[in-house]
Amino acid sequence: IRRNPGELEFHQAVHDVASDIFEYIDDKPAYHEAQILRRLAEPDRVISFRVCWQDDQGKVRVQRGYRVQNNNAIGPYKGGLRFHKSVNQSILKFLAFEQTFKNSLTGLPMGGGKGGSDFNPKGKSDNEIMRFCQSFMTELYRHVGEVTDVPAGDIGVGAKEIGYMFGQYKRITNRYVGVLTGKGLSWGGSLVRTEATGYGLIYFVENMLAQRTDSISNKTICVSGAGNVALHAAEKAITLGAKVITLSDSSGFVHDPSGLTQSKIDWLKQVKTDKQVSIAQYTEQFSEASFHQSEKPWHIPCDIALPCATQNEITQDDAIALINNGVEVVAEGANMPCDTEAVRLFRESKIAFGPAKAANAGGVAVSGLEMSQNSARMSWDEARLHDLLRDIMRSIHDRCRDYGQQQGGYIDYAKGANIAGFKKVAEAMLAFGIV
Ligand code: NDP
Repeated sequence: IRRNPGELEFHQAVHDVASDIFEYIDDKPAYHEAQILRRLAEPDRVISFRVCWQDDQGKVRVQRGYRVQNNNAIGPYKGGLRFHKSVNQSILKFLAFEQTFKNSLTGLPMGGGKGGSDFNPKGKSDNEIMRFCQSFMTELYRHVGEVTDVPAGDIGVGAKEIGYMFGQYKRITNRYVGVLTGKGLSWGGSLVRTEATGYGLIYFVENMLAQRTDSISNKTICVSGAGNVALHAAEKAITLGAKVITLSDSSGFVHDPSGLTQSKIDWLKQVKTDKQVSIAQYTEQFSEASFHQSEKPWHIPCDIALPCATQNEITQDDAIALINNGVEVVAEGANMPCDTEAVRLFRESKIAFGPAKAANAGGVAVSGLEMSQNSARMSWDEARLHDLLRDIMRSIHDRCRDYGQQQGGYIDYAKGANIAGFKKVAEAMLAFGIV
């Protein structure tokens, strides 16, 4: 805490991982002597830079850009770029730290990083977004590369922003390489990347339920968020026979007791690409639903809760409400959406809890497959990628289960994910000596 003053999200992430790892490394002196955990919690480097751009009125705007390169023991740094007004160093350090374990869990050769800016894309014109992205990449390009650091999208960074940044990288360097993932299909992107995080989350939940000889069919699900992860999770869940009854955004949540349908999701996908539209408009379109301004959906009874919006959106009170209403499974689509107290309550109450670094790893896994396709200068077909995603999510689940098995049969997936993710990175770090 003294080394990283005020970085609350970063403290939270390191604390949560360290509590599980300490127990695991207790009888393994090599890890202590090499200070592996301490080294992992000190990013390899934190780059911060000025990003100047001009708005449509000709006014000069100044933003701060970041890239946190946390650890590259098992592969090039890899992790998304977030453009949101809340972005700061603490949030990006927590995300880069978590990403290191998540990427390790996928079994693919990727290290951990994260970046972004406090630029707020909401309400900006396409030209403003383009000018910002170009300016951002004009500095970032010197720190990234296809074998160095391969950023992707995250909140506020979709295919459009990736396009502007890739165009600028190519222009500055005159190199056509896989320096970013999440690219468009006609210029090096991978099929299935858009759907991968949300679909992967549902595959993970299916694996959790299969442990109890149960399935997702006929389950009632509360989802938060209405972005890429939330909508694709909802889409896959309803395809498998579940009923999804909530979605949310920063204005509040909608409760649709009749359940989402594919046509409702298609409408949302369309209107949500226009960043101005609030989820409140759902009720104008579908009168069976109600809108709850500035509220979260966690007091609505459900079998499965899938927080897919942002960090710390499930607090202690929300967790108590979910548990009292009989929730069976909570799986994190967003990064760290459950705060420390909420996670503690789920684990104590023996609720099946899928932590973000495992449950939402499908997106980065397919990004890893995009990197492989770019290196080979090939595009794989959709069926192959869907199969690979399903297989990767199953093996992530199994690794977490194997390291998280508790006496009495409860599977502590959070603990399992921390230990399994740590082990691979730690072994590589030990092999490299003191560097
Ligand atoms: P999007 O930008 O597509 O959607 C984010 C959604 O969350 C929007 O509905 C947004 O509402 C809502 N939201 C954002 N901030 C808040 C807030 N403070 N309170 C309530 N709602 C909020 O992002 P993604 O779906 O891509 O990402 C969501 C989460 O999943 C993030 O934590 C991200 O890091 C994580 N993730 C994403 C991956 C991906 O492949 N996309 C991969 C792995 C993790 P509004 O539109 O009103 O802002």
